[in-house]
Amino acid sequence: MSKIKLSFHGAAGEVTGSRHLLETPGGTVLLDCGMFQGHRNDADKKNRTFLFPPASVDAAILSHAHVDHCGLLPLLYKNGCDAPVYATPATAEITGIMLADSARLQEGDARFYNKIHAAEGLSIEPLYGEEDANLAMAHFKTMEYGTVFEPVPGVKARLLNAGHVLGSAMPQLDIAAPEGNRRLLYTGDLGRAETLLLDDPAAPQDVDYLIVESTYGDRLHERLADAEAKLVEVIKRAFKEDSKIIIPSFALERTQEIIFILDKIRRSGAAPEIPVYVDSPMAISLTEIFNRHKDGFCFDEKFREYARQDGDPFGFDYIRYLRTKDESQALNNRKGAMLIISASGMCEGGRVLHHLRNNLGHDDATVLLVGYQAQGTLGRRLQDGEKKVKIFGLEHEVWARVETMHTFSSHADKNDLVAFIKAAKPARGVFLVHGDTEARAALAAALAAEGIKNVKCPAPAEEFELN
Ligand SMILES: [Zn+2]
Repeated sequence: MSKIKLSFHGAAGEVTGSRHLLETPGGTVLLDCGMFQGHRNDADKKNRTFLFPPASVDAAILSHAHVDHCGLLPLLYKNGCDAPVYATPATAEITGIMLADSARLQEGDARFYNKIHAAEGLSIEPLYGEEDANLAMAHFKTMEYGTVFEPVPGVKARLLNAGHVLGSAMPQLDIAAPEGNRRLLYTGDLGRAETLLLDDPAAPQDVDYLIVESTYGDRLHERLADAEAKLVEVIKRAFKEDSKIIIPSFALERTQEIIFILDKIRRSGAAPEIPVYVDSPMAISLTEIFNRHKDGFCFDEKFREYARQDGDPFGFDYIRYLRTKDESQALNNRKGAMLIISASGMCEGGRVLHHLRNNLGHDDATVLLVGYQAQGTLGRRLQDGEKKVKIFGLEHEVWARVETMHTFSSHADKNDLVAFIKAAKPARGVFLVHGDTEARAALAAALAAEGIKNVKCPAPAEEFELN
């Protein structure tokens, strides 16, 4: 095989399940191995079948630790893959936590489903267990940003900062081929041009082929700078009314961003001090990783300077990290103004459900949504203003104020994407992935207007020859 081939096995016309396979003369490289997330039956079928033999992969490169990019690695290794996985040190650490959690969730889900459906003779199997997650983790080889490595003979690779979540990288591959060297860059998920904690995304150059995400190819974000003022306003109100603020938050990145803003508010004295509880064991473990890396080059210079002066940007004197269930439940009976940050971000599971159950009925409580709320989730129903919602099968009336901050996003918006692609000057082709149909089409149209040619929107399993 002397040709270079690229095929798309997920996140082609949707925003989940990123898996892209690059076949080169020197071997096969898998870019990400993400899990499809969505309705159970549909996602399960897509997750169980690899359209390429797992054993044929010679090297895997992981862009970042979100489950829709790393979540199927355990199944790949369970099914016979023995290749190294290259990732940054922070991504490897975070992936270890994410995969163990994913395995535990699936095992718990399967136990619950099988118990309920035992009489009908129905049962499901988890995709993988914790031992498979450990097997995948044993194959990790960490690479710092910028270090050149050779995943397969004839391919020189390096990881560039993507500015999306801690450790996130854009794999850049220089591929030796009979027709000449070709440079391919995969963005993974690309961060915003303006970020809160992380260093800005790198600006790659002399790219031949670009695989780029298009999540917000049709939208523009609000300014990040407005987040602090909104939080100050909500805290002042809770202080005055002696009431609770519940922030459902993604454990990775969003929680640390909120904590950092709260730390800044405390230092500036812009709002009265109320107790802050971080009630998510996973968020706590992830915040520890952020703390360990806070001097590293993952972070924006402004943040590193702040961290040097502050010493502990994720831990101020009235913040409490709650690990045990007892500590979490004790909050229900605690009176007075307080702010509770808890997962999951779309209110689909996790401890936040208990806090919502206990507070949705209070008209002075505030539920502050700080992330994307997908269709069909409890978070979306609250955001849409539904007055009755079900939690654990029981109906609850919604009297609490539900407010949304649209300022946060760890993805580039339309303008960021167009500027990034223009600067990379892709000479031979652009593949748009990780976006739904409308977002991708809007970005493709914007790129056409900029005179960028050879923009493709690959279909699932579509294969391209790279000349
Ligand atoms: Zn991501």
